[in-house]
Amino acid sequence: MSDAFQRALAGTIPVLGEMKDGLKRPPTASRTALAALKKTAAARPAKTDWTWESLEKAVLGCMKCPHLVRSRTQVVFGVGNREAELLFVGEAPGADEDAQGEPFVGRAGQLLTKIIEAMGFTRETVFIANVLKCRPDMPAGESGNRKPRGEEMATCLPWLREQIKLVKPRAIVALGATAAEGLLGETRPMRELRGSWLEFDGIPVMTTYHPAYLLRNQTITEKRKVWEDMLLVLRKLGREITPKQERFFTQPAA
Ligand code: SF4
Repeated sequence: MSDAFQRALAGTIPVLGEMKDGLKRPPTASRTALAALKKTAAARPAKTDWTWESLEKAVLGCMKCPHLVRSRTQVVFGVGNREAELLFVGEAPGADEDAQGEPFVGRAGQLLTKIIEAMGFTRETVFIANVLKCRPDMPAGESGNRKPRGEEMATCLPWLREQIKLVKPRAIVALGATAAEGLLGETRPMRELRGSWLEFDGIPVMTTYHPAYLLRNQTITEKRKVWEDMLLVLRKLGREITPKQERFFTQPAA
């Protein structure tokens, strides 16, 4: 139970006690209790029976982070097969994603598409989303992208959780340490996270390097690490792996 909800209960229970004892005046919750309840309600989706239509509408109109609402071009909901067996999660939209309304569309996105296709999928057959649905704002006059803060990802995570509930993937790939932090609360370095399975709401999660990292470190050894993580994903899904797929990035391209 959250602290906010506990504080709200603490303010409400005495009023209920007075009602039970036969007090004549109508019960009123304290302002503190009402504010705490309001804050709790705003921090998570209240509905439990989301459909894709209602969820998309709610996320696209979300105003939970006023500073991001002010700076975003649009909310980046997520794309792909809404019944995918494999779901990729990044940390947050960057400038390209904010402009186009789709996750992973810049150079890192093109590399992710190549990885997905090397696995035998297409962008249309998997689902791709971010923990944070709005681009992290930048200080005035600064360009580029910044890492989302922990509290921003925590505020937005309930939306991703609802997406995952609807997709029901058999496996999730967290792209980068920040995505793993937002999704799993993991703060360990990537060298400790990658290559082993963790869980989110009972679904196996493989963490691997963000494609942007591979763009900065284009050595065959780093590419192979990511590929080995993807081979583990393919095995988890029971996919047949060809000898050619097994050998990817074991030797420099001729
Ligand atoms: S980042 Fe998430 S929680 Fe915050 S305003 Fe955007 S959609 Fe809402």
